[in-house]
Amino acid sequence: MSDCLFCKIAAGEIPSEAVYEDDQVIVFKDIYPKAAVHLLVVPREHIESLKEMDASRDALMAHMMHLLPKLAEDQGLHNGFRTIINTGPGGGQEIFHLHIHLLGGGRLPGFG
Ligand code: 5GP
Ligand code: ZN
Repeated sequence: MSDCLFCKIAAGEIPSEAVYEDDQVIVFKDIYPKAAVHLLVVPREHIESLKEMDASRDALMAHMMHLLPKLAEDQGLHNGFRTIINTGPGGGQEIFHLHIHLLGGGRLPGFG
């Protein structure tokens, strides 16, 4: 997707504060952090949202899930962390390239 912000960040065309990358994903700091630690875990492949996920991407999904606790540990979040995936306009998604928010540090607001 040529006009996708996260594709451009993954390609290095737009700078980001990356904390981790491999052949499948890039992880960088959210530009408007909502917590002391706020990372975005982004697949390199352009996938619009969770609605586009299917069994052909199981390995990628597992990779991202397994990465989350490791990233949290690396960021010093030894007491736990929060993950969020916004899906579609009704879910508050603003960037239509799948990403997992990883948040933690300090006191997170209650949920509901
Ligand atoms: P969404 O609402 O789609 O789940 O989350 C999009 C996130 O991307 C937001 O938390 C927003 O702060 C972040 N974001 C938007 N533009 C940029 C950018 O140019 N660079 C980075 N690092 N984060 C961005
Ligand atoms: Zn994209």
